[in-house]
Amino acid sequence: MLPVDAAASLILSLIEPLSDSEPLPLADATGRVLAQPVHSPLDFPHWDNSAMDGYAVRHADVQQIPAHLTVIEEIPAGTRPQQTIQAGQAARIFTGAMVPDGADTIVMQENTSRQADIVAIQSAPELGAFVRQRGAFHKAGETLLPAGVRLEGPEIAVLAAAQCAQVTVVRRPRVAIFSTGDELVTPDQPLGPGQIVDSNQYALAALVTQAGGVPVSLGIVRDDVAALRAAIAQSLTQADIVLSSGGVSVGDYDYVDTLLKELGATLHIRAVAVKPGKPLTVATIPQQQAQLYFGLPGNPVSSLVSFWRFVQPALQKLSGLTAPWRPTFVTAKTTVALRAGGRRETYLWGRLTLAQGTLEFSPAAGGHSSGNLVNLAQANGLAVVPMGTTVVSSGSLIQVLLRPGARL
Ligand code: AMP
Ligand code: MG
Repeated sequence: MLPVDAAASLILSLIEPLSDSEPLPLADATGRVLAQPVHSPLDFPHWDNSAMDGYAVRHADVQQIPAHLTVIEEIPAGTRPQQTIQAGQAARIFTGAMVPDGADTIVMQENTSRQADIVAIQSAPELGAFVRQRGAFHKAGETLLPAGVRLEGPEIAVLAAAQCAQVTVVRRPRVAIFSTGDELVTPDQPLGPGQIVDSNQYALAALVTQAGGVPVSLGIVRDDVAALRAAIAQSLTQADIVLSSGGVSVGDYDYVDTLLKELGATLHIRAVAVKPGKPLTVATIPQQQAQLYFGLPGNPVSSLVSFWRFVQPALQKLSGLTAPWRPTFVTAKTTVALRAGGRRETYLWGRLTLAQGTLEFSPAAGGHSSGNLVNLAQANGLAVVPMGTTVVSSGSLIQVLLRPGARL
């Protein structure tokens, strides 16, 4: 049984970032990962411009207050100033408009009064006040955005401003998903005695989508050696990563590991010292499209926790994101004592809340069984009880894995 951190590092060492990229219109690139650095031939700001509505002046002219200057021009945003400001002159200027030659300082409108062509400056500005200097934010030719960033609102904004109407992004990772088990039915089938719905298929597809991947759902596979062999073989040709759930325990119908070995796989991991989620198979298979095969535990909570802890970082690396590739852990105060068996790193799901600026964690009410997916819903964090620890007293600071996309 590998410790959690060792398993996580081993998994990352088996992943190569995808090297194929595709061009996309900027408007379609939200959530995608930039494949190449972006440089811009533009300075940001593109020219000296005003940060305020007011008057463009020569600093030398406003040393004596009040100063009276002749307004020679009005400069709205988007126009080129026509005149150079000479001694005793000013230009009416608006936010974002180009600063005219000769002027070096902006006086905000609130500190002025105006009569016909004369403006009275009521308070002395500093030299260069409210002038956004050309190139102050970014110099032409420097890297505007590096490869490996995920494009969200601010990144899209900067690319739009740099006139990158098309961007090159990493191909989205394809993730094949199938569930194993004779007891499984789809949500629209009638439930017979002893049967349960294949919730893992839906959960994993949702998590893959949320992580920026493309789920390739392959459905339910019976606990039948031939059917399972065919499903594994098919999945390896269809995706960059395969996630199967179930069939990796030590039960009589748990065939996944045996079949992977038959296919020539190297089994790097067969169990991890984690609760929930001990049975976890991680394998590589030579000459297949899929870089990695994850045999996730069947128990619904276990398969989700395994995804968050081990699969999501692998997807981050695969999708071209820059390191670190890991879940987000936050420090929080537990509101109650937490208990664990001590032999495995234990994840207890519950709610993180902000109380007067401090994060607090409370475990979900009800059983913390790996079969209880009901109280996993709406949990936004998983408290970590380290291996070797059996009790964490109430009020202690603990590490909590933040559920991806969680709200606090
Ligand atoms: P297994 O790992 O195949 O022994 O399954 C462990 C437990 O998880 C059993 O109670 C299964 O019924 C349940 N289980 C397995 N696969 C799924 C699935 N796809 N969706 C929901 N529960 C599952
Ligand atoms: Mg099973």
